[in-house]
Formats: sequence, structure tokens, C-alpha cells
Amino acid sequence: MKVLVLNCGSSSAKYQLIETSLEAIEKNADREIGRGLVERIGTGSAVHTFQAQGRERVTDTGEILEHREALAHILRMLTHPEHGVIKSPAEIDAVGHRVVHGGEKFTQSALATPEAIRAVEECIGLAPLHNPPNLRGYEAARRVMPDVPQVLVFDTAYHQTMPPHAFLYGLPYVLYTRHAIRRYGFHGTSHRFVGWRSQELLGRPRSETRLVTCHLGNGASACAIDHGRSVDTSMGFTPLEGLLMGTRTGDLDPAVVFHVMHQEELSEQQVNTLLNKHSGLYGISGVSNDMRELLAEEAKGHERAHLAIEMFCYRLRKYIAAYAGAMGGVDAVLFTGGIGENSPSIRARSLAGLEFMGIHVDAARNDAAMRREARITTDASPVAAFVIPTNEELIIARDTVRLVTGTPQV
Ligand code: AMP
Repeated sequence: MKVLVLNCGSSSAKYQLIETSLEAIEKNADREIGRGLVERIGTGSAVHTFQAQGRERVTDTGEILEHREALAHILRMLTHPEHGVIKSPAEIDAVGHRVVHGGEKFTQSALATPEAIRAVEECIGLAPLHNPPNLRGYEAARRVMPDVPQVLVFDTAYHQTMPPHAFLYGLPYVLYTRHAIRRYGFHGTSHRFVGWRSQELLGRPRSETRLVTCHLGNGASACAIDHGRSVDTSMGFTPLEGLLMGTRTGDLDPAVVFHVMHQEELSEQQVNTLLNKHSGLYGISGVSNDMRELLAEEAKGHERAHLAIEMFCYRLRKYIAAYAGAMGGVDAVLFTGGIGENSPSIRARSLAGLEFMGIHVDAARNDAAMRREARITTDASPVAAFVIPTNEELIIARDTVRLVTGTPQV
């Protein structure tokens, strides 16, 4: 089957065309056919870049005013006589959509039935910036490809197995029942994917292992996967909680918010921007949210770049140890995301000091592990650590195939 995976933001549409099937999933032999990105939707100067597997990247610019037009553009690109990869849109068998928030309604991916779409709409209050463009992407695909089945894959669904003692805040319980205030967690597809891949690397099924997965990108979160189920994760009601991130604070005493609002005379919107966009690695270093740049600055002696990196690694180390405690032990720590896959130094610094838990990094292995699956601990290390490149689009494509063919999810 050819599955179009769509990830629509407010002014963008990221996509991949993936060839997969139940047999390909079984053999881990699915194939990316091409991927692209439409940016600046809603303007006269939208930019559409597309790269067919193994071919040169092509770029097209022009007016694209809304997501439906963007999707028509995508189909034209995919079927383009010169740059395209399929002859006709009819070759697309299904569409899988990334949806950020499924609230408590979705514990796994779902076929996009009218009831499911209504349920996603009911979750808009929980993700007012993300669910509406995700739904626009769905609506665009429904109109442009009315006969093609569509599937919704949620960032939150995987974490719906968290028990109440992990997902509740220490607030009056009525705020949970009245307003659904609780921890949801995000990056669920990524944590689920690396947990699934770990089975091959560890030679043991997920149902027999305790894992701490660390998705370290511009946004970052850790997850405790106990015998195949997410039992805790560091992001909360929104993606602001938990690890220090590129521009987000991560964990913060909420009293700071009121104090800063008062002292700096900030509006609600300004403080929201401060916490989400001006904080984290960027806010501490004053230099950049990009870990590569921070490492380069640190090497030149930049003190606050050093401090930001130290804070990032320290907080991650605390979460890894805390999740091992939560599960009564850990068998493997898994690193993924732009930083987790590419930065041996951040991995080593985050794991430093965890030898007491049985994590012994092999420096040469760690240094050599870049953007590929690899063990980074010594053979004798009682707890293993691995790099596993994430592939959220692939999970979306696989869930789409399973739902369309009526096969249970794994
Ligand atoms: P993502 O959000 O998963 O795309 O990851 C983006 C983050 O990965 C940015 O902070 C990048 O600086 C970081 N990153 C990518 N390559 C490297 C690298 N070689 N070393 C350190 N960080 C990297």
C-alpha cells in the first residue's frame, strides 16, 4: 500500500509517501518513496520542497492560500511527469494524519470516522494551536481524495496507559473532572517507535523490559515504558513540562509565573511566549536554541552556553534515574531525536554518574553512533543504552495500514 502521511501545522504541511504493507511491517522493510514540505501556507510566496528517495530536491514557490490548495499542490508534485513518484493520485491507498491531542478519548490511532473527527474537535480546547490545523489537513484530504480512507494518529494516545498517580497534578481533583486538567504527554509515536525497535536490539520483547526513552530534539521528553506500556512521561498538560528544551522552560514552580508577570508587567500572552519561546537552552545561554551551536560556543569558552548544556544534561539524568525508580529498575535507556541521535557528548554527559545504576558507557561506541541504531554501553554493562533514530512518519503509515486492513495495533 502507498500511504500519504500528512503533518499539518498552522502554515505548513509536512508529508511523506511510504510504501508499506502488513508483510513489510513484519520484516521492517517499509520504504519511503518521497518526502516534502509546504511552508508559508496562507501567503503569496509559499515554498514547496520535495525530495524523491535518491533524487535531487526540487523547490516550487507560489501562492497557496489554504491547506486544500497545499494538498492539491502536493498531489501535483507527487504525480509530476519529471519529479514525481507516482502516475496518478489514485495510487495513494490511504492517508495517515498526525494529530497532536487526542485527550482521554483516544488511547490509540483511529479511523477518521465522523464520530472520531467530532471527538478530535472536542479536544481543540486542549491544543488550540495544533488540533485545528491537523483537522484542516484532514478536511483537505477528505475533499481532494474523498474515496481514500484516512487515519488519525495522536501524539498523546500512547501515554493513555499512565496510571492516575502519574498523570494527576496535586491540584483539587475537581479540576480534573471539570476541565480535564492532567498530564497527557506528547511525542507518543516517537517513544512508541523506539520502544518497539528496542526489541530487536535487546533480543527481548517489550512485554519483558523496562525502558527509559529519551526523545531529545528542539522539544524534548523522556518516557518510562514498563513492560510495553507508557507509565510516565515528562511532558504534561502541554509540552512545556519536563526536560529543559530548545526554547521551553521544562519543569518550573508555577509561582514564578505570577511573580514574573507582576515584576515585569507582562500580559498572559507575553508570559506564555516567555515560557515557550524565550526560555530553555536559548534563554539560559542567550546565544541559541540549537545544541550544535551551543556545543561549538562552549568549546570556545562561552560560560552560559556551558551552563545551558549542563542544565539540559542534569535534568535528563534526574529523569532517567527517577523513571528507573518508578519502574523498580531499568533494562535499557534509548536515545532519539536530533540531539539524541547526533550528539555523543550530550548522551555521555547525561549518563555520567549513573554507573551506580549499572549504566556503563563505551566511549568509542558512543562516539561512533551517529544517526544509526547502535549500542553505546559496554558489553558488560548491566543496563544497556542505545541510539535509535526515530521515525514518526513510519509509525503513522503503519498504523494507517493496520487500521485500514482491520489488523490490531502492536
Ligand atoms: P529535532 O527537533 O529532532 O529535529 O532536533 C533538533 C536539535 O537537534 C537541534 O538542537 C540541533 O542542534 C540538534 N542536533 C542536530 N545535529 C546535532 C549534532 N550533530 N550535535 C548536536 N546536536 C545536534
